Amino acid sequence: AQTNLQTSEKMASLGALVAGVAHELNTPIGNSLLTASALGDMVRDFERRLKEDGGLKRSALESHLGDARKACDIMTSSLTRAADLITSFKQVAVDQASGQRRRFRLDEVLHDTLATYAAQLRRASCSVTVDVPADLVFDSYPGSLSQVLSNLIGNALLHGFDGRDDGTLWISARREGPDLAVLQLRDNGVGMTDVVLHKIFDPFFTTKMGQGGSGLGMNIVYNIVTSVLKGTIRVESVPAEGTSVTLVLPLWLKEDVLQA
Ligand code: ADP
Repeated sequence: AQTNLQTSEKMASLGALVAGVAHELNTPIGNSLLTASALGDMVRDFERRLKEDGGLKRSALESHLGDARKACDIMTSSLTRAADLITSFKQVAVDQASGQRRRFRLDEVLHDTLATYAAQLRRASCSVTVDVPADLVFDSYPGSLSQVLSNLIGNALLHGFDGRDDGTLWISARREGPDLAVLQLRDNGVGMTDVVLHKIFDPFFTTKMGQGGSGLGMNIVYNIVTSVLKGTIRVESVPAEGTSVTLVLPLWLKEDVLQA
């Protein structure tokens, strides 16, 4: 029975992983597709005008080139984000498939995850305050933890700040007793009503239907935190004040869980 439980847990997290890949890649790839198609239109318009006018004014040429450069910049940053996501999912898949935990410093995994959001954080003029001690060392699954952090940071940007500038994201962690770490991500964004808060872990629940939301992000976070990292998650939120997510995670996983 224990093996079955282990297998079904692995299947559940594999399912969560696949859903996660689809969910997270959707936005940057969708962005790139739209931009590539707009760039194609620009080039066709440019060609048509070249043919009709028999030559373009320098100012028109500069404006076309400026638009094309902007489109290329958007595609480069979206595809960089997609490539970073694939790297991080690959790590989760390796973690899951090998079943091998690894010793890692939380501050380093957090730093690497934040680095994948550098461009987005800069664009949103969002500041991040990190207070994580360097001696907080886990013996667990770094790729899975990185995916959880990535979803939570992405949510603060997409939902919490919702396009608003100058948001702040506070990330802090502390050890609790010999075996646990408490990790908190708090944003001063738009917050959530109780109705939204109660549905936040439901699969496919999103307030951004048709605007890049699939409603899988927090469901994946919940699955990874509880079934892979063996921890707990609590979300508190006040409309117009912000949202706080608290994770309580074991610093290491019991041998019997890992060996099965
Ligand atoms: P998605 O991001 O695809 O909408 P999630 O499962 O990640 O799906 O989130 C579900 C919903 O929870 C979001 O649509 C949003 O309404 C709300 N939410 C999640 N994180 C935050 C946050 N930091 N601030 C405000 N609302 C949030």
